[in-house]
Amino acid sequence: MTETDAKIVCTLGPASDDHETIRDLARAGMRVARLNASHGTREERRALVERVRAVGEEVPHPLAVMVDLQGPEIRTAPLDSPVDLAEGSEVRFVAGDTATPEEVGLSTAVVGASEGDRILLDDGRIETVVVRVEDDAVVARVESGGELGGRKGVNAPDVDFDLDVLTEADRKEVELAVETGADFVAASFVRDAADVLTVAGAIEDCGGDVPVVAKLERRGAIEHLDEIVEAAYGVMVARGDLGVEYPLEEVPLIQKRVIRRCQAAGVPVIVATEMLDSMARSRRPTRAEASDVANAVLDGTDAVMLSGETAVGDHPVRVVRTMRTIVGEVEASEEYAELREQRVPKAGATSADSLARSARYLARDVGARAVVTASESGYTARKTAKYRPSVPIVAATPDDAVRRRLALSWGIRPLPVEVAHGTQAVITGAVDAALVADVAESGDTVVVLSGMMSDLTDDTTNTLKIHVAAETLATGKVAVSGRVVGPVFHTRGDLTDAPEGAILCLPADFDAEFTGDLSRVAGIVAAERGLTGYPAIVARELGVPMVSGAALPVDRVPDGTVVTLDAERGVVYEGDVLEGSDRGA
Ligand code: PGA
Ligand code: MN
Repeated sequence: MTETDAKIVCTLGPASDDHETIRDLARAGMRVARLNASHGTREERRALVERVRAVGEEVPHPLAVMVDLQGPEIRTAPLDSPVDLAEGSEVRFVAGDTATPEEVGLSTAVVGASEGDRILLDDGRIETVVVRVEDDAVVARVESGGELGGRKGVNAPDVDFDLDVLTEADRKEVELAVETGADFVAASFVRDAADVLTVAGAIEDCGGDVPVVAKLERRGAIEHLDEIVEAAYGVMVARGDLGVEYPLEEVPLIQKRVIRRCQAAGVPVIVATEMLDSMARSRRPTRAEASDVANAVLDGTDAVMLSGETAVGDHPVRVVRTMRTIVGEVEASEEYAELREQRVPKAGATSADSLARSARYLARDVGARAVVTASESGYTARKTAKYRPSVPIVAATPDDAVRRRLALSWGIRPLPVEVAHGTQAVITGAVDAALVADVAESGDTVVVLSGMMSDLTDDTTNTLKIHVAAETLATGKVAVSGRVVGPVFHTRGDLTDAPEGAILCLPADFDAEFTGDLSRVAGIVAAERGLTGYPAIVARELGVPMVSGAALPVDRVPDGTVVTLDAERGVVYEGDVLEGSDRGA
């Protein structure tokens, strides 16, 4: 299965946190594993990060870990059996651990509420409105009642609780994320950029530099969208809480606007919650859910997320496969291609932006197979993703952590590469990585965009190049110089079956003479070294290029394989790697 542009984030939980299932999820398409700090213990989470890392070693793609903080979430008291909140009745909200139909304990006292404010319980299923505020309680009327279970989420969108974005427990989770080398920390219930920076500061205080993904799930967050996008590494459209704190009918458009804004800023964005919700139990999604995933991809999201579906669902792996199939179907469509062309962001202020944007048009205009970025920090690759090219973006980088981080970004195929010095070596290394991973084939044109590997500062994207990917099959010594492309013909002398324009491959023990039509010979590759033997004399007489001391094994390079004989450099490449201007040189 080909890699999709939009990435899949899966929440791990009791249904999916064993080694085998994590591996199966990764094989099915998971690129980021989300660990929800609202559940389980820190010891369990530490072990789980290690388990994901171990799986990451076994699968061919980088697998990132996102630790999702609980944040200043308010929950109802733990309960053994649900209480019934009747419509029209009055309920007192207090801080505490008990709950009756008349008094419901919450994990945090409601402060700063006033008459008319809404207090919503259990994902908004139960709606109440504050009628009066007492010393240690807030009294509300139940507008829409129901059974209330223990530890259900409480949303009070009109109330400013003035809670810290990080609880004590969150700070310990941040510590864990830094110690275990997690790839992302998701910050819950952020209100503004200051909240994002508080979380980033806590990470820094632990000596880490884990990027922060800001979860938009709180009233007010959308009003501060620009500054949040500016402050965070990434953003999550957390539709669960968002759909309680904002009227539900606003959520679809909020999703579209947030994605648009994030794309314009080059910031990765995740669409989350209830994407394939019914698949927690059923084997097939609803039509509406299939549409939801498809529409998020059409909106241009970087990633789509699964929550309970993979954490506690009945068929976690099947859900990922289903999601990947839907994503793939959309990405193969004309509609998707059309939207992508229509929504290319304006060039940003940096030179990296201009080059990345040019690279996306250049790739289209020259029919390139990929945009290959040589990117030390991931910056060049993310800039390229911002402009959503129509071909894969290879991000060749020696840094494991950078590759994992890029696993969240649209269209990027992170690939390992050795550290190289000098533009030429960096480009060759990056293109070779693309060849090894089969993103490009020898002879394909690619557009290369390179941030210099030796420079450590960010804005160093400085080389844009049209490049023909060339896979070296053999190297030897130039006997007769020149360059030619043609089909390989292995022979011990008999040229009867040689095709027109053949490149003859002579074995090491070749000691015969040619018989047949010599005019079909376009070049010679001799396994034996020698510039003066019979083959070299013939090549010189015919005026065709020849390389000696280069062996092309018949099993790897069978008759008919098109190769480029570069008898300037003494190299035989797979495929036709002569650029237009060089042909026949
Ligand atoms: P949660 O966040 O699953 O941590 O609540 C996602 C959301 O609110 O949508
Ligand atoms: Mn939430």
